[in-house]
Amino acid sequence: MSDCTVKIGDLVIGKGRPVAVQSMANTSTADVEATVKQILELARAGSELVRFTVKDEEDAKAVAHIRDRVREAGCRVPLIGDFHYNGHLLLSKYPDCLAALDKLRINPGNVGLGSSHDNNFKTMIELAIKSDKVVRIGVNGGSIDKELYAHLLEENRHQNTPKSDRDVFLHAMVESALQSAQKAEEYGLAADHIVVSAKISQVPDLLKVYRELGRRSKYVLHLGLTEAGQGVKGTVSSAVALGILLNEGIGDTIRVSLTPQPGQSRTQEVYVAQEILQSMGLRAFLPQVVSCPGCGRTSSTLFQSIALKVSEYLRERFPIWKDMGFRGIEDMKVAVMGCIVNGPGEGKDANIGLSLPGRGEDPKAIIFVDGQREGLVSGEDLANQFIARIEEYVKAHYQGGN
Ligand code: SF4
Repeated sequence: MSDCTVKIGDLVIGKGRPVAVQSMANTSTADVEATVKQILELARAGSELVRFTVKDEEDAKAVAHIRDRVREAGCRVPLIGDFHYNGHLLLSKYPDCLAALDKLRINPGNVGLGSSHDNNFKTMIELAIKSDKVVRIGVNGGSIDKELYAHLLEENRHQNTPKSDRDVFLHAMVESALQSAQKAEEYGLAADHIVVSAKISQVPDLLKVYRELGRRSKYVLHLGLTEAGQGVKGTVSSAVALGILLNEGIGDTIRVSLTPQPGQSRTQEVYVAQEILQSMGLRAFLPQVVSCPGCGRTSSTLFQSIALKVSEYLRERFPIWKDMGFRGIEDMKVAVMGCIVNGPGEGKDANIGLSLPGRGEDPKAIIFVDGQREGLVSGEDLANQFIARIEEYVKAHYQGGN
């Protein structure tokens, strides 16, 4: 666990605080309209920090406008600017850009070579100090500090029992992150203004890197499997990697770096991150739907479609319920079960549950509320009847807090 806390806008992370969900926009930052729209979508989906790239002068000029529009929309989500290669130039030339950001992400592998590496890094850190900004030292396996890696490889060659080049590479990522953080402190940036990350795309590599970071770092850690991929592969590998590390107490913020499926909303990465934290019992974001996988005992099409409809309904209604002042709904459990083998048990264990009787039935199901069998719903409209009962339950139990 990190020794420090870091305050970013209204959000405090680290030292046992709840693990925060982060996401990154994929719009062109210079397109203020599109970027504001996506930041608001991500924040509404539950992203607690939103990052976007600042790659050139057009992007840098847009940042203050983005901040103004996001705040005018009533959204307080901390905004993070992601800088590579020219951050020292952009942040020096565009003080409005610097002022508008809550946090800077600097990749020590992409700040220049030789003496310009140190000078550029120092420039950005000094600007961050002057404007009281938090900095993430964000190492990435795809853009490691080549000079440091070459130096560590050379050092390793002279050892009696040299490590593999891969292990030296992973160690170089940790060294790059920690040496940069230490340098930032030497330049005057307080440890409680530093977040560290060292992301890589393979799960076993990430475990090695973060376990070393967890042992050696006092800083708040941002955690993520970079370039996780698409769909099931990206979701599962992120969940495995983050789940293992979070279970070991490593990580203060997380991002799930999913490649969106064509046409898929960027918010998917936020939902996956939330599900990882909620399934581990670390956070509660949304009412949980308990549903069985189905088997030969149920007419699975009906059961599957009810489970899907209820899940979508809860996700859509949850922010509206929150805006209406309802509190505690994220702890609500809804069961949708395929038959009487496990249906009544799970139905009673949930706040509100539905169990189909089994295979070949007319469309009808038993509803359970707070552990008691309440009655039957039936007919083609069964899913909507159950949803209407959920709505009544929420209004009766969560209005004005629970
Ligand atoms: S609850 Fe019934 S339908 Fe669902 S998996 Fe269990 S036995 Fe099969």
